Amino acid sequence: MRVEGTVQGVGFRPFVYSLASRLGLGGVVGNDVDGVFAEVEGPPGAVRKFLLALENEAPPLARIERITTREILPNGSGAFAIAPSEAGGPRRTLVSADSATCADCLAEMADPADRRFGYPFINCTNCGPRFTIVTDVPYDRPLTTMAGFTMCAPCAAEYHDPADRRFHAQPTCCPACGPALWLAGPGTVVAGTVVAGTGAGEAVRRAAELILAGQVLAVKGLGGWHLAVDACSQQAAAALRGRKHREDKPFAVMVADLAAARLLCELDEAEAALLASQRRPIVLSARRPGAAVADAVAPGNRQLGLMLPYTPLHHLLLAAIGRPLVLTSGNVSDEPIAYRDSDALDRLGGIADAFLGHDRAIHVRADDSVVRALRGREMLMRRSRGYAPEPVRVRWAFRRPVLACGAELKNTFCLAKENHAFLSPHIGDLENAETLRSFTEGIEHFRRLFDIEPRVVAHDLHPEYLSTKYALELEEDGRDVHLAGVQHHHAHIASCLADNGEDGPVIGVAFDGTGFGTDGTIWGGEFLVADLAGFTRGGHLDPVPMPGGAAAIRQPWRMAAAYLDAAGIGAAAAGLDVARRNERLWADVVRLARRGVHSPVTSSAGRLFDAAAAVLGVRDAVNYEGQAAIELEQLAGPDAGGGAGAYRAGIEPGEPFRVRGADLIRAIVADLEKGTAADVIAARFHGGVTGLITEGCELLRERTGLSTVALSGGVFQNLVLLHGTAARLEARGFSVLAHSRVPCNDSGISLGQAVIAAAADRR
Ligand SMILES: [Zn+2]
Ligand SMILES: [Zn+2]
Ligand SMILES: [Zn+2]
Repeated sequence: MRVEGTVQGVGFRPFVYSLASRLGLGGVVGNDVDGVFAEVEGPPGAVRKFLLALENEAPPLARIERITTREILPNGSGAFAIAPSEAGGPRRTLVSADSATCADCLAEMADPADRRFGYPFINCTNCGPRFTIVTDVPYDRPLTTMAGFTMCAPCAAEYHDPADRRFHAQPTCCPACGPALWLAGPGTVVAGTVVAGTGAGEAVRRAAELILAGQVLAVKGLGGWHLAVDACSQQAAAALRGRKHREDKPFAVMVADLAAARLLCELDEAEAALLASQRRPIVLSARRPGAAVADAVAPGNRQLGLMLPYTPLHHLLLAAIGRPLVLTSGNVSDEPIAYRDSDALDRLGGIADAFLGHDRAIHVRADDSVVRALRGREMLMRRSRGYAPEPVRVRWAFRRPVLACGAELKNTFCLAKENHAFLSPHIGDLENAETLRSFTEGIEHFRRLFDIEPRVVAHDLHPEYLSTKYALELEEDGRDVHLAGVQHHHAHIASCLADNGEDGPVIGVAFDGTGFGTDGTIWGGEFLVADLAGFTRGGHLDPVPMPGGAAAIRQPWRMAAAYLDAAGIGAAAAGLDVARRNERLWADVVRLARRGVHSPVTSSAGRLFDAAAAVLGVRDAVNYEGQAAIELEQLAGPDAGGGAGAYRAGIEPGEPFRVRGADLIRAIVADLEKGTAADVIAARFHGGVTGLITEGCELLRERTGLSTVALSGGVFQNLVLLHGTAARLEARGFSVLAHSRVPCNDSGISLGQAVIAAAADRR
């Protein structure tokens, strides 16, 4: 038999071995380039039981995609054996994602009688590092960053004992033979301080002291270095912000366990389950009033991003500190997370007071993943550590291997062949040399790991995206590849289709910040009629100028000026606060917009949210992408769909139809003049956007007969909007597809590009 899926490095061979032994079957099990193979022989009843159990009792980290069996002649063997792995040949096996320390390992780590007591690198077949330490396949110790550590006799005995939990656990180790912690600075290096029987060790104790003294500690994690400070210390959190050049984008907080998490946030069941899952993402949830974290951790934010410890070192550190810990990516502003020790010491030297590291190398960079829960369902915001490189499976086959280069912001790439689409971990905004290198190196690593030689290369239509340029250069370099340009919002909708295992056609609502349109203008409030093969633009938000171009993205008040002008409201004359606050430049900006100087027009829904936020006084300038919309969502509150009512935007019924977003801004002004409360206005605005989406979809249903709607684009990270829109559409008889496994924001673009290019390639 052959078992395909994520079946290597997850204890599958030992599981098969013990199952066969229990049933008295002879034969062999092994890893090869396709996954796991096994031959069993014995009484027919036992073989049947074996096949049933193979699927039903598989180990926790296994993801079985397919089991195929055939009959062969028995060779009379009564014994069962595990075959050694062989290298070479095409590789189709799947590397598993990294997994949080399991309960068995935690119990051993806490047991003074155990030889791994207090050992920060304890792991077993059911937990520990995987994807981030794999240098090549098949997954065996020599092809991981554990290659340099020779197992001691007791570890080797466990590794070779089929009855042991560490049987063939590739990263297994102990204080005698495995990696050791080191602590560097300020002015000191404490090396090799972890000794069996001494508990957490001197390095962890000293590191905890530094944190409690308000210092910034760099800590090596699974997919990169973090920066850590005491989450209760305003001074420490503020210092970290200053040194990292991160003004008010929230920091994630690690807490020791679910009980500690519940002291900070109001968690529902789904959120608690996500927090405690083996993937251990950052979970965004509602912050409790008076939650004991410093203001500088998540300034002005009604949510907190929490996570639980996922490495043994995290557990030891949290226990030693005894309070919540800020744990944020080890980088300066928008650079990628540092993962090599030399890089961390170099780049984080100006931020961290001390470094807590170790000598097990990280081979692949992987940031923490970020999720929210909606109606009990997981919604990924950032798909990275713990998820990558698990593939998205499609129902049809890619005819030729595809590389999709993704978008510019929140970039991921996607390599696909057969029926698997492998999305990279989060790479980031392709705006500097370091991120671009992460992108190109990542593509090379994935090509090797999954043995994919792309023949079709999909890219965005924006000529200035570095990901687009990378694709074009492949062709210029004379590589034998077919290029496929994919429109940004079509890619969003196709990504949502692939996420749901659908092919369309659907009505696609793609609402985001920015995407290059086929007419050369900036799109972002789009109603498409789309399937994987193509799309037509059925409708869109009425375009408005972006006065000053990119400046209008950083300064939402400029969008307020443009929208108020489009709404026919002389804001200064009307005495609006937003005009008063920005008095110095207001008239100039309105003039820019009217003349169309440095003012590209856009149908972006993100800019409509920006305008609303500025008019309402939520925010005139942003320090990170989407900040104004996030604060507007929080102002509206989770129950915004309720009794507050909704504004209404008119539709100009051409083909494509145009939705007058300015009507919503006019309604906000009218309510402001009446003295309506800001949270009510924010709720009515959300209701207005929900309403205009529903009306647009109804118009397209009349025109096309389609009644399935796919919702995609970064604007739908707003759960008040997503929830309200889905509910309203369903009430009107639509079926609604939303994202779940892949983010709706631009990090999902690469998947959409891949399936669109493949659809064209199949014709
Ligand atoms: Zn374990
Ligand atoms: Zn050992
Ligand atoms: Zn987008």
